[in-house]
Amino acid sequence: MSAVALYARGTEGFDSRVAHAVAVLQSAASEHVGRIVQATSLGAEDMVVTDLIARHHLGVAVATLQTGKLHDETLALIPRIEQRYGLAVEIYAPAAESVVHFVRTNGERAMYQSIELRKACCGIRKLEPLARMLAERSAWVTGLRREQSNTRAVVPFSENDEKGRIKINPLADWSWADVWHYIASHDVPYNPLHDQFYPSIGCAPCTRAVAVGEDFRAGRWWWEDENAKECGLHVAEAPVSLMGVRA
Ligand code: SF4
Repeated sequence: MSAVALYARGTEGFDSRVAHAVAVLQSAASEHVGRIVQATSLGAEDMVVTDLIARHHLGVAVATLQTGKLHDETLALIPRIEQRYGLAVEIYAPAAESVVHFVRTNGERAMYQSIELRKACCGIRKLEPLARMLAERSAWVTGLRREQSNTRAVVPFSENDEKGRIKINPLADWSWADVWHYIASHDVPYNPLHDQFYPSIGCAPCTRAVAVGEDFRAGRWWWEDENAKECGLHVAEAPVSLMGVRA
């Protein structure tokens, strides 16, 4: 059964949550003209955000991290986005020499050996390219939602990241049913792995399908403690308000 058939459900307040997400994005785009980017993981939420950006001509750049460990199904979404929306997706890859050195020193399966090595891998393949993506930007957009995990339960619509940039989370109050209802009603392209019980998709070695009843992010770094399951991309900071937008 497809993810749309399994999860899409129109619930009370959906239209107002969509309108609010657009308002959050519009406000941020007008405050950070030419200096705002969506850092898309190419997951379901981020595909919704990209659709909102393109549909409403918001002038937000779209960029992704090509860690070198993504599933083919994930990579295939990049040309689909470009064809569907007529925009160029910026791609940021890790420094080749850093990857070669790390793999030579620690092996291809280093992420399973310790949290330190897993975080070092994320540092090389994600955090350093992300820093380049954000270098000239004053704001960035994510698909974070409060419902995704305990560590994300207080995600605000807007916050300061650790570098003082504004981080916009327009889907903070959306449910999983909302995400799929939007995808179904707007025919948004999505990763077919979502149809195989992968709700949250990261690098191939660090993502597995979840079983019925398992937590949303149970398939990410499943061998680690629940509270350690972030790669460093999303560090909580104090929320700030957006002009004219519900915070
Ligand atoms: S998610 Fe896994 S493969 Fe990807 S950068 Fe982090 S440790 Fe490395």
